[in-house]
Amino acid sequence: MRLIPLVALLLAMAACLGACGARSVRAAPHGPRSPFLIVLGIAQDGGVPQAGSHTHPGWRDPSRRRMVSCLGLVDPATGRRWLLDATPDLPEQLARLYEACPLGAAKAPDGIFLTHAHIGHYTGLMFLGHEAIGGSGVTVYAAPRMKSFLEANGPWDQLVRYRNIEIEEMTPGRAVQLTECLRVTPFLVPHRQEYSEVVAFRIEGPARSALFIPDIDSWNDLDAMGVRIEDLIASVDVAYLDGTFFGEGEIPGRDMRTIPHPLITTSLARFAALPATERGKVRFIHLNHTNPALDPESSAGRQVRSTGMGLACEGSVFSLGRDTEGSPPN
Ligand SMILES: [Zn+2]
Ligand SMILES: [Zn+2]
Repeated sequence: MRLIPLVALLLAMAACLGACGARSVRAAPHGPRSPFLIVLGIAQDGGVPQAGSHTHPGWRDPSRRRMVSCLGLVDPATGRRWLLDATPDLPEQLARLYEACPLGAAKAPDGIFLTHAHIGHYTGLMFLGHEAIGGSGVTVYAAPRMKSFLEANGPWDQLVRYRNIEIEEMTPGRAVQLTECLRVTPFLVPHRQEYSEVVAFRIEGPARSALFIPDIDSWNDLDAMGVRIEDLIASVDVAYLDGTFFGEGEIPGRDMRTIPHPLITTSLARFAALPATERGKVRFIHLNHTNPALDPESSAGRQVRSTGMGLACEGSVFSLGRDTEGSPPN
């Protein structure tokens, strides 16, 4: 039976290499017993194509679609699986997560970590309810305001009342220990906080660690909080970072200052002085439907790769174990 997950993973990796090019992703077989991350979506909250983009080729060509930004975390030794964010694409992402480790018959993941209350990051919880999975005590890890928001507002409060979900409050800065050698630590990041605080995650495995910051207003605002993104990158082996917009003027007719994100061009410039090993850890994720780097072969995609940084790719796997094959490209 162990061959099945390995074959599924190899297929996913092969597909990914074809879509992204060997430079941006060098996913490789990981030890089947090592915990790993799998990229389940790379798009901004609205997905690709986005509602209203009636002529987007993705409506007719599924290969042009991208799911909303999400990571899966898998511990093959125990068959336990977690999601980082609950997106509107949760049904397919759960299926992909199961393919990555087809152990057990549980419909729901063992837990879901939420970053914040914007539509791409929590509304997938609806599929745990009465009308779909009908989950039973699925653990949802949420920071204090996020937890209160879910408990106080419909339809999410019904998930709590029907015990489809059990919300476990996270304290920013305090690790959630999932297994003996796997833990996830939330930390606060500056981003619009209409309904909840916003957290990002540090994920630590037995030998490697990762950073997941899908949504942030700017690296300068993080500096103002006394945290340098360069120091965070230095402390991990791979960093999935907000790459919502590629450059200025990407959304005609809309003031991009009202939806602040670090432009990829800004990040490329800021990280240009870093050593190649550090730049090689960066994978941009959470790309808006307008972002030209969604096509890795576009000039924008090539520009990213020319700096030694990369673009997250659906299906790519990053080992958190000791397998040398799981190292990021550099
Ligand atoms: Zn978002
Ligand atoms: Zn957001």
